[in-house]
Amino acid sequence: MTSTYERFIEKWRTIHNLREVQELVDWDQQVMMPPLGTEQKGFQQAALAGVVHSMLTDPEMGELIEELSLRGDLDLYQRANLREAKREWEKETKIPARLVEERARAVALAQGSWLEARKNNDFSAFAPFLEKVVAITREMAEAVGGGNPYDVLIDDFEPGMTENVLKEVFSTLKGRLVELNDKIKGGSHPPTQEPVTRFFPRERQEALCVFLAKEMGYDFNAGRLDVSAHPFTSGTGRDVRITTRYDERFLNTALFGVMHEVGHALYEQGLDPDRYRDPSGQACSLGIHESQSRLWENLIGRSRAFWVHYYPELKRFFPGVLDDVDLDTFYGAINVSRPSLIRVEADEATYNLHIIMRFEIESDLMAGRLKVGDLPAAWNAKSRELLGIEPEEDANGVLQDVHWSAGLIGYFPTYALGNLFSAQFMEAARRDLPDIEERLEKGDLISLRKWLGENIHFYGRLYLAEDLCEKVTGKKPSGDALMSSLEGKYSEIYGF
Ligand code: ZN
Repeated sequence: MTSTYERFIEKWRTIHNLREVQELVDWDQQVMMPPLGTEQKGFQQAALAGVVHSMLTDPEMGELIEELSLRGDLDLYQRANLREAKREWEKETKIPARLVEERARAVALAQGSWLEARKNNDFSAFAPFLEKVVAITREMAEAVGGGNPYDVLIDDFEPGMTENVLKEVFSTLKGRLVELNDKIKGGSHPPTQEPVTRFFPRERQEALCVFLAKEMGYDFNAGRLDVSAHPFTSGTGRDVRITTRYDERFLNTALFGVMHEVGHALYEQGLDPDRYRDPSGQACSLGIHESQSRLWENLIGRSRAFWVHYYPELKRFFPGVLDDVDLDTFYGAINVSRPSLIRVEADEATYNLHIIMRFEIESDLMAGRLKVGDLPAAWNAKSRELLGIEPEEDANGVLQDVHWSAGLIGYFPTYALGNLFSAQFMEAARRDLPDIEERLEKGDLISLRKWLGENIHFYGRLYLAEDLCEKVTGKKPSGDALMSSLEGKYSEIYGF
């Protein structure tokens, strides 16, 4: 006779298997699918989503969860699995099917409208569609309950995180970042980006990316590297695939893009192999996920120590191209900072300001303090306040991101959280591995990878992100580690 717990966990593992198939269908669509395949992919995704939904809302699932909730003999892992399962099951069952369908329709229409509106720089054409998405998203959050609708949305991406915690962390961070950017503007020796805008042939960039991914410990027997319009990581366990795009006139795009995605992939490849299909064995949160990609991309990939060993290696991939560029000039070139309008192109020092302004806008929108029609004005004002520049057209402003049209409200904060966590984790890694600088200078990336594996990857979602952060670093999430890392680095590079 199978026990209640075994039936429960088997159901969740089956759901996970189906979700891996969903991800694979999506990977296929973005990487391999022939141009005419779109509609068929839509049918496949809808079919899979239907099966997953009915498994989640099956009355037996509710009975199993209820029964297990009364038991006092579950171990740490079993309790965490129950906690995570319950969170998801409650959301899935509290939202009426009518709303789920309405939302799917509203999002499909809004995304189509957004693409057009961005092309035509016409926010007013998009506004009614976005209004609908915002209204339905709020209604769904209210159906789940628990007070603040924005909290419910944030919890979808960052379990356990709340608007109030973010408000506190971001408001301190905001002031310090604005100050830092003023100092960067007044720096006495700003670096030039010219070296990384030379000609870097695509095949050689690809070879370099594969080489670096292997050095970082990415297992190509459990993954692959392909090309897609928007870089992403897909899969888990023993099949974790990454993508990138190449720009022959800008080395940073693929180089740091791949280091970023490998950071995500190492996390997925590093999950506990016995638990990665369990509710608490999967990646902790989007913020923790992003901390892994940002750590490798920025705190390692844009550090001087890393390039002490890897700059001569990089030069070998592009014979003659960087002969006249010394290490410090190259290090400056990959760390040029200036306020820009587009989030995805922003550098380390300005990126979080793009996120904080989106967070503040979402917060006002969800609380009803801001109307969709007033978004462009609010956007431009915040852009001026935080970045010191203002978009001349909405296409480069409020219309630049896909998220809101896709109903992803509450997602943006996870990017900034990722940056905070990455700096806090790096600080903890330095505490545990005091000679890490020397190791990096010798090209030893595996010590750090191992540390991340043992302290973060292996746990999966056993702890909530905030608790994991505290367990690993001894501190609650805050902007302190990030700011001291940024201030130290940029004062040296820019001279202030
Ligand atoms: Zn990422």
